[in-house]
Amino acid sequence: MSLELTIVHLYPDLLRTYGDRGNVLALRRRLEWRGLGARVISVARGDDFPIDPDMIFIGGGSDRVQRALSGELERRRSEIATAADRGAVVLGVCGGFQLLGHSYTDASGTELAGMGLLDITTVVESPRLIGRAVIDARFAGEDFRIAGFENHGGRTSLGPDAVPLGKVHRGRGNNGIDGSEGAVGGNVVGTYLHGPVLPSNPALCDALLGAAFSRYGGRELAPLDDRLEVAAHNASESRR
Ligand code: GLN
Repeated sequence: MSLELTIVHLYPDLLRTYGDRGNVLALRRRLEWRGLGARVISVARGDDFPIDPDMIFIGGGSDRVQRALSGELERRRSEIATAADRGAVVLGVCGGFQLLGHSYTDASGTELAGMGLLDITTVVESPRLIGRAVIDARFAGEDFRIAGFENHGGRTSLGPDAVPLGKVHRGRGNNGIDGSEGAVGGNVVGTYLHGPVLPSNPALCDALLGAAFSRYGGRELAPLDDRLEVAAHNASESRR
């Protein structure tokens, strides 16, 4: 019997900047195209958290939405941390990335507690960092280039328990200063890249899927016909 991965999409009604939902579609399709199964469970505020998911995705959102969700996420912390400890791969994009960290201090100076799953701290500064970004990324022992779009006021700094997802080749990244982009702590991953990032960066999508299968002893992911995805990646990488 082929294995089915359970993918939790956290707050798709609220955290959905720039079509971040496309990340969940990409994860699902790349499983299905290989004859593997995907069960996507959307979790809204107050919903029960599914038992033992394989992947958790959390997208980006405005400061207003982040403020509205901060208390809720703090309450979810232990459920999500337990899932991550059991091998679930967690991906956060932009606002979701920030909320995976210790705290996010927004444009009004309010410090919102995050989930503390990634050793990162974020403080908003002016100006916003906006534009195309190209990153030389490394995850799960694989090196690949990812491209997308960033738009954030937050400046993120990494603590000793996180490593950057990659180095900025073009764009601003975590803080516009140290050349780092995103963060990885075990199987918890964050990035500022929208696009959505996974459909046009199949190498990252497959690296995350591969990591999600590690708890089942690993799985060879058959190559796919990625001509469209590669064209989308190249267009994103070359756009100014
Ligand atoms: N509100 C956050 C910031 O401005 C995140 C924005 C986003 O998710 N695009 O830094």
